[in-house]
Amino acid sequence: VAKSIIQAKQSESEWFVLVVENAISFLDSSVKSIETSPKNSIIDLYTAIELFFKARLMKEHWSLILAKPEEADINKFENGDFRSVFLAQAHKRLEKISKETFEKAALDNFLNLGMHRNQIVHFAHTDFKGDKASVIVELWASWFYIYELLTNQWAKYFDEYMERFSSINTEIRNHIGYLESVLDIRTPQIKIELEKGNEIVECPSCTLLSALIDKDTPITQVGKMRPVNTWGPINYPAKKYTCLVCNVKGFKIIDS
Ligand SMILES: [Zn+2]
Repeated sequence: VAKSIIQAKQSESEWFVLVVENAISFLDSSVKSIETSPKNSIIDLYTAIELFFKARLMKEHWSLILAKPEEADINKFENGDFRSVFLAQAHKRLEKISKETFEKAALDNFLNLGMHRNQIVHFAHTDFKGDKASVIVELWASWFYIYELLTNQWAKYFDEYMERFSSINTEIRNHIGYLESVLDIRTPQIKIELEKGNEIVECPSCTLLSALIDKDTPITQVGKMRPVNTWGPINYPAKKYTCLVCNVKGFKIIDS
């Protein structure tokens, strides 16, 4: 029988730090198990993403990370005795309470990763050993989206962790070989797009020459944080793309 865990009492800002540290430790273990256990890698990455959303909610108010904020009780909270919010509600709260907006592609990716995680945790998910490359593509895209959130939209909340995010990013990028093997498979499709007169550019996520520009979407201004985030984001013109290798959808800033 599982005993309830008695946690030491923490202040709200200490809780934030603990939640972020916990998220980062799940990221670390996700990265470390990419090769040995893609299954655990997916579970851990999803857990990390959900924790980052909770950490972000805590910056609004601690009660928002509860499944039922109307039952908030500071004493229970401080003892860690509560049910917390799931990702699907967390992003809605941020949209409604903090007027945040999220890319649909990013949210869809997180929710799909969550479904995949649930399949692994709740059912016997047997067809796993088949295709490591496709699991790594899935992890890659999820990481790209959460990394974008942490380092741009949420940069002011997670400022102190940028170096750690960047070193995790480097570790994930060491697995580029799997994406290059997917590029080989996609090459005929990319050729067809080029023959149709479509534009293929370097993908901002996987850096391969595999991002198909959506010519029907007009050039859009996209806010990006400066390297040192003192003055907030600046806007750059960007084109909408879908990567044919890593499946990431987003906006590619036009250089020049
Ligand atoms: Zn890509």
